[in-house]
Amino acid sequence: MDVQEVRLKLKAELDTLEARSGRLTRHLRREDEALPDDWEERGTSLSNDEVVEALDLKTRARIDAIRAAIGRIDDGSWGECLECGRDIAPARILAVPTTRMCIKCASKANHA
Ligand SMILES: [Zn+2]
Repeated sequence: MDVQEVRLKLKAELDTLEARSGRLTRHLRREDEALPDDWEERGTSLSNDEVVEALDLKTRARIDAIRAAIGRIDDGSWGECLECGRDIAPARILAVPTTRMCIKCASKANHA
């Protein structure tokens, strides 16, 4: 797999996530439906919001990571470890294209 293929895959995932994030945001802003008048239903609806909100945050974090990875592909820094500046092993970067650290630095960071 070459870099451009990775970029295309990331872009496709980004499009999907952006569509999902838009739906989640609309849901949270109640653009689709108003809060139910019934108090009991309203409670259920609001506790669903917490789940949706958590999902929305996760989706946004993933969107940011993918945007950043595409940016690095475009500026040529993709595949370089942010910490030590060495090349990230191809198997690792292809499996996790959004990673910013080589396996050594990532495990150090996790243990820090
Ligand atoms: Zn490193």
